[in-house]
Amino acid sequence: MRAKIIIIGAGIGGLAAALALQRRGFKVAVYERTAEIREIGAGLMIWANARRALRDLGVDSALEAASSCVNVMRQCNYATGEVISARTNEQIIEKYGFATLQVHRGDLNRVLVEAVRANDPEALHPGHEFVSLKQDSSGAAVSFANGASDHGDAVIGADGNASAVRSFLFPGEATRFNGQVAFRALIPDELVPSSVREHEQAMHAGPKRYLLHYPLRGGRIMNLIGCGQAAAWEEEGWAIPATNEEFAEAYADFAPDLVELIHNIPPGALFKWGLRDRDPLKSWVLGRVAMLGDAAHPMTPFLGQGACIAIEDALLLGRAFAASASVTEALRRYEDARKERGTNVQLWSREEGLALQDPTLPRRSAVDRGLLDYNPASVSV
Ligand SMILES: Cc1cc2nc3c(=O)[nH]c(=O)nc-3n(C[C@H](O)[C@H](O)[C@H](O)COP(=O)(O)OP(=O)(O)OC[C@H]3O[C@@H](n4cnc5c(N)ncnc54)[C@H](O)[C@@H]3O)c2cc1C
Repeated sequence: MRAKIIIIGAGIGGLAAALALQRRGFKVAVYERTAEIREIGAGLMIWANARRALRDLGVDSALEAASSCVNVMRQCNYATGEVISARTNEQIIEKYGFATLQVHRGDLNRVLVEAVRANDPEALHPGHEFVSLKQDSSGAAVSFANGASDHGDAVIGADGNASAVRSFLFPGEATRFNGQVAFRALIPDELVPSSVREHEQAMHAGPKRYLLHYPLRGGRIMNLIGCGQAAAWEEEGWAIPATNEEFAEAYADFAPDLVELIHNIPPGALFKWGLRDRDPLKSWVLGRVAMLGDAAHPMTPFLGQGACIAIEDALLLGRAFAASASVTEALRRYEDARKERGTNVQLWSREEGLALQDPTLPRRSAVDRGLLDYNPASVSV
């Protein structure tokens, strides 16, 4: 089959989908609403399940070269910093064949953008905000806020958890605040207390809040995330500035070196946002349009798998098109291959979010739940 596929959103999912389709010979046009295709300054953990897909896409080695790869991932007592349990990357490599990578989002974005542009310098279109689409038996047409439009054989909505494509196709259901507010910061190594640096990656789960830190870019910066329950949240967006004082006050009972780390966050490097959630979709496909990544299965961050699952989706989308004689067949194969896994991880992330903040509930990480066993390059499509 020959087809032109329009992708809305140049986040991790949209860019990986573009690459997966290009590598199987399809023409893609990716439309992104922001004026520049870039990622926010924050970290991501990329696990074996996604690395198998990235290897198939030809970018795993480039990403590994740009990543940190900590020796030990620790769970610590939130108040004393005492190590409760530890898992080494060696154990992960032995079991899954790939280390877990700690990646700056900007580096993953760069690796994907370069690979997509190397295949087709004209594939990416920043500054195009999707507003509407029409479809019939001959194809699908999309329109943008800047007055531009395009026409293709299929449209992929990869426009994140507040997806406009999803709202257009399945109206009447918005994202909702899930009762938790997150803080994020990147802190230069010289401002990180030595006891925190020695712990490399550590999760400190306390009552109704947790702090997670891990190094990026070979240890030159520390990524810090705090997440906790909050009564209300009004603002939208990932980049709402926060103050060191409000962050430190919310985590005042955590170990003193963690509170010191919070106070050391440089001016302008601390942001907060309210986590949003949506219920699973009954279907990811309507006619010639399919959802992918957070647009299909908006995910809370508690299993650290949202981007990994979007990358899995992307590879299976490419494989589904390559295996099909028509767009309808390709989207059906894609949905059949992915919906159960995406929905399960979406719901398990919610479950883990509750357990992380309530010591009476059992905790089961992505490793415990067997998520790293999945191989998107070989599951049937
Ligand atoms: C605190 C936190 C920590 C996390 N840690 C991890 C982790 O360690 N590992 C992991 O795998 N996942 C993690 N995640 C999850 C991960 O960040 C997301 O699941 C992932 O970014 C989803 O990618 P996406 O491409 O589907 O959506 P997005 O990254 O949201 O990208 C959507 C893109 O679409 C664009 N867009 C939106 N609307 C329009 C429109 N109307 N027209 C055109 N373009 C549009 C946006 O500008 C954006 O570029 C974490 C999430 C959070 C909040």
